[in-house]
Amino acid sequence: MPFTKLGLSTTLIQAIQEQNYQQPTPIQAKAIPLVLKGKNLIAAAQTGTGKTAGFVLPILQSISQQTEALRGKRVRALILAPTRELAQQVEQSIKDYAKHLEISSLAMVGGVDSEPQKQALIYGVDILVATPGRLLDMMYQRAVHFDQLDTLVLDEADRMLDMGFIDDINKIVDRLPEQRQSLLFSATLSKQVKQLAKTTIGDAVEISLTHDANNAPDIDQWLVTVDKDKKSSLLSHMINKNDWQQALIFIQTKHGSAKLVSQLEKRGIAAEAFHSGRSQASRTKLLESFKAGEVKFVVATGIAARGIDIEELNRVVNYDLPDQADDYVHRIGRTGRAGASGEAISFVSKDDFRNLCAIESRIGHLIERKEVEGFEPKKEVPISILNYKPKSKKGNGHYKNSKKTSK
Ligand code: AMP
Repeated sequence: MPFTKLGLSTTLIQAIQEQNYQQPTPIQAKAIPLVLKGKNLIAAAQTGTGKTAGFVLPILQSISQQTEALRGKRVRALILAPTRELAQQVEQSIKDYAKHLEISSLAMVGGVDSEPQKQALIYGVDILVATPGRLLDMMYQRAVHFDQLDTLVLDEADRMLDMGFIDDINKIVDRLPEQRQSLLFSATLSKQVKQLAKTTIGDAVEISLTHDANNAPDIDQWLVTVDKDKKSSLLSHMINKNDWQQALIFIQTKHGSAKLVSQLEKRGIAAEAFHSGRSQASRTKLLESFKAGEVKFVVATGIAARGIDIEELNRVVNYDLPDQADDYVHRIGRTGRAGASGEAISFVSKDDFRNLCAIESRIGHLIERKEVEGFEPKKEVPISILNYKPKSKKGNGHYKNSKKTSK
């Protein structure tokens, strides 16, 4: 179905054409008509599916039809996002799509001076994209009021819950008018997300695309088994041997990221660390340089897993596997976005085995295993177990409900 059939105005269609989008992604085709009709929505959609345009375009359309003047410190639509990077990226998308409309937007995030954000709100802002903590702060300072609010969006709701924002979200939602349209987007619809939806969204149409393999971004996933102490030299070897031009490399800890950057540098590979210990300004700058291709290798901790949107990024490396299987899905979603193909490579040592089982059970299939000559592990990684359930009490290495599978 073409964009022109979704009920969007010609001005928005023009902006979409300027983005070179040929046709709506499946989530857009489903969500846009429903949001335009004013429905509440609960959508299970992974990152990289085009979900941002799925809610931003209809919101822009409805704001452009508003006749009531916006008063000072008021907003018409509020988008809550888990991380600063994601909030900034969503706000950038709004600017792109609203290019031919007189609609204002603001990203309100922590880690930067709040004064310019307060100033920007003085005459009201049509669409506010905020992280929960900073928004609460601003609410308590009476810098923002919600009596003109029509639409609430909870973006990456599962991530916001993981990050412990539930109380902040509830406090914010308490201040919103009951008469509003509410939309929730989440990679997963876990019990907790459904509970949040029940209290914040109310009656809603539920749409899900996560289990439709045809809509999954085209990502080639594989893993290399390797001993833990050889991971860094394996990485340098693969970068050099395959002449990688760029990669986003995920690692567990801040300390680990600094160490890996210096190990790579010793082998003549320039890399930068991206983690929460760096100031917001330097993170933003680093992302810009990475997008521009000036920085080739970024070693990031989990915080960066959301919110990085780089059109041409075609390689993600899980130097460590994440403890949460959902994080794996989000990480690999950094590549292969919107139909582009991508490659997600994980370095798996014996210590990563439990996380590997959890991830493979989460994605419902085994990840292809490879070995790299000269880096064959001395400590073997056991055969994977699908349908793995971690034992709830002691982490003693035994597995329940295990069905042995090998590839
Ligand atoms: P999202 O899942 O919203 O983070 O979007 C992922 C990427 O897809 C972004 O870089 C968008 O610019 C891009 N995108 C969104 N919609 C489309 C579309 N219909 N066609 C091509 N690319 C798109």
